[in-house]
Amino acid sequence: MIYTCYEMIRDCRADRAPGWRHFVAAYVPVIRKLLAHYQAGTPGDSGILERVLAAVRHPESSLFQSLEPAPERWFVAELRQKVLAELAAPAPAIGLDLETVAAALEPLTLLEKQAAWLETMSYPAAQTGVLLRMAPATVENTRARAADLIRGKVDSWSRSLLAENGPALGRAAAAAAGGECLAPKAFLDMLDGRTTWRGREELEQHVTRCWHCVDHFCRLAEVVELLRGIQPLSDLEAEPFRKLLGVPPAKRPGWKRWLAGGA
Ligand SMILES: [Zn+2]
Repeated sequence: MIYTCYEMIRDCRADRAPGWRHFVAAYVPVIRKLLAHYQAGTPGDSGILERVLAAVRHPESSLFQSLEPAPERWFVAELRQKVLAELAAPAPAIGLDLETVAAALEPLTLLEKQAAWLETMSYPAAQTGVLLRMAPATVENTRARAADLIRGKVDSWSRSLLAENGPALGRAAAAAAGGECLAPKAFLDMLDGRTTWRGREELEQHVTRCWHCVDHFCRLAEVVELLRGIQPLSDLEAEPFRKLLGVPPAKRPGWKRWLAGGA
């Protein structure tokens, strides 16, 4: 029997233990991978995983309340937002706001905007190339051009301005949703190659003008790679996290107890 992400969200919303057990086993490894990426190069924050779990488990957490039962990639893109919200974002030396980025990068194509935006998400050219199916050298060239365009719009500039302002720009983009913004399914169809040429053109017309959607599209592309090679925790590995969340262990079926030589 397969227990899906859809069922997990339903059970966690109702605060049922099987949902939380599945969440711990399947998604603690995802949270760890996100933390390894977004904390790279900063002094490690040892309590961060526990804080993320407590925030997810909190009765007023929006992660399960605000979501309709959803496919896994949609869910993980939202979980990523929870993880980043718990990370303290250092204030950059020079600020750069989303409006300035939008105005500066307006001449770029959608794909070029994504290549530039993934720099705010701390993805170097090689990884960005994998996410966008683009040659890393093309990513580098696009980023150099994006940096030049931004240079023309700000008084004080450095090549790492986009990356340094990444956390703040990500929050601004997430908050900038409008009525025309696309549902995750439209992006997932595009990532899976299910979009027609015409559908793609329509989607691009909105997305290329909307940094909320550029960010959302990039986050869904990120999730595809994030989930690759993820192994769920064993019962033993999951136990401390389960205890932390106050979730009882699963009752083992009778035949397994018998096999294990128990009562
Ligand atoms: Zn939009």
